Formats: sequence, structure tokens, C-alpha cells
Amino acid sequence: MQTPRYAFFEGRIVPFAEARISVMTHGFMYGTACFEGIRGYWDERAGALAFFRLRDHYARLHRSCRILRLGLRYPVEELCELTAELARKNGDRADVYLRPIVYKSALQIGPHLNGVADDFTMLMLPFGKYIEAGGGIRCRTVSWRRPSDGMIPARAKVNGLYVNSALAKTEALEDGYDEAIMLTADGAVAEGSTENLFLVSDGTLVTPPVSDSILVGITRDTVLTLARRELGLPVVERRVDRTELYVADECFFCGTGAEISPIVEIDRRPVGPGKVGPVTRRVQALYLDVVHGRHPGYADWRYPVGIP
Ligand code: PMP
Repeated sequence: MQTPRYAFFEGRIVPFAEARISVMTHGFMYGTACFEGIRGYWDERAGALAFFRLRDHYARLHRSCRILRLGLRYPVEELCELTAELARKNGDRADVYLRPIVYKSALQIGPHLNGVADDFTMLMLPFGKYIEAGGGIRCRTVSWRRPSDGMIPARAKVNGLYVNSALAKTEALEDGYDEAIMLTADGAVAEGSTENLFLVSDGTLVTPPVSDSILVGITRDTVLTLARRELGLPVVERRVDRTELYVADECFFCGTGAEISPIVEIDRRPVGPGKVGPVTRRVQALYLDVVHGRHPGYADWRYPVGIP
């Protein structure tokens, strides 16, 4: 994987090699950090990188920080401006992935959060597809459960919580699947290792509710909005049983990295006829049009930064 040229670290832009933390950093020892994953789409005609729903990602970062008692001194608008500055400095004229992180920066033993110093860092690098989903992917329900709100809140994008995603994804990969589906502690469908999940049943889009141990995904919200406004599809957020996946007409993952990734097999059962379905195709095409600025609406979802 390519490494970035510059990073934002300790209040300024520095060469990437200088953005280093101590092994005694609280956030490293205890996973006490929150982050975002954001895509910037390169627009050749405009000579600009368009960050997708940048303000919404930074608003979620602020919410994660409230849960984890992390101080983030930059308001959303300033974070957007810092992002633009870093993008211009890096100068990548290609699709990028942006990773802002707020972390407990004190060199300190003991996991408590109160009274512990924090800091903000961010890096970005050229990034293509996260999942090769052309013909649809194969998934399994893994043995690892999603922690519930009273364990580690999935609503906050906490670095330490990704141990759960790592265990789940590894189990799926080593068993020959492309991605994991995780259940809640009491057995309802939650989400993938880094994606939210939708199913299509009788023309209705169904997705687990925010109270079922999921990250409140920005792509999930994008899909819900586009389905209602542009596709006229009924959408329902409700508890989903595991076996509903086995009888669904279609299934797909969505996320910043995964974009829209069709699922064609779950636990050795074909989803519908075992091919990418028509609703998933419509959602995927529309999503890609919106993020790439080919759709006439939703300009306010794109934050363009001219790259000289
Ligand atoms: N769930 C988890 C666990 C994730 O890590 C991600 C990726 N951020 C998502 C869902 C999708 O969220 P978003 O659409 O905001 O990228």
C-alpha cells in the first residue's frame, strides 16, 4: 500500500515520516481513540477532489468524541478547511481515502478517560476499491458478536472496537468468504466488519435499526435518502432476523470503503437467484453517480478541493 506524503500532526502539516507517536501513548495502549474514514473522489474535469459528505463525517467524529470523552478542539468547518489544506499539500490527483483520528495522547498507564490529554491527527492516501464486488460477494455469519451499547458503543467509531471487526473479518476470510456478517449479542443481524447491511424483500429496503449495535453509517443514510427521494422505494429500519437473510430477494453492504457491494451468497445459501439483483444495481448506479457528481442534485454532499 502507498504511504501518504504529508500528515496533519500535533497542530501542523508535517512529512508523513515525522507523524509518530510514542508506544506509551494512551490511545495506542488502550484503543482510546475515535476515527473517520472518508473518500475523496477525483473529478478530472473540475481538477478537484470531492470529499463525500465531509461535514457529516466530521459531525459524527464530534459525536464519537463526546461518547469517548475526547476533546476535539476544531469545529466541523475548521476540520474541513484543514482537510483541504492537507489535500492540496499532498497533491494527489486521484481518488483518496482520508483518515482523521482523535486520540488520547498522554503517556500514561491506566485506562481512565477523564483528565487525560488528547490530540488530533489526519492522513490521506490514494485509494481504489476496498471490496472487489463486481459479480457480488460471498459472506458468512461469523461466531463473533457485535458488542452491545453497554459494552463498547458501536455508535461511536472507536478504534478499540475494530478488534471486533478484525476477528470477524479474519474468520470470514480464512473460511473462504469475502466478508463477515455480525449478529448482535442476542442474535439479530447487525452489520459487516466495516459496512452496514441492507436486504430487499418484496421491493422494500430493510436495514437494522441504529439501536441494534451498528455504526450509524453515512452511506446507510445516503442509501435511505436516495431510495426514498429518487427511487421511490419503501424503506424500513427494523430488527432483522438472521434467517431473513436466507429468504431475502437481494442483499447488499454499504459503506465509505465498500460503497455498494452486492451480496450473492450467505452461509452457503444463494441470495435470491444468486446473482446481483435489479434493486441493488439501481442503488449502486445512483450512488456512484452522486459521489462522482454525475447526478444533478446533492451538490451539497460534495466538498470540492481544487488540486493544482
Ligand atoms: N459499520 C462499520 C463497523 C464501519 O466501520 C463502517 C465504515 N465506516 C460502516 C458501518 C459504514 O459507515 P459509513 O457509511 O459511514 O462509512
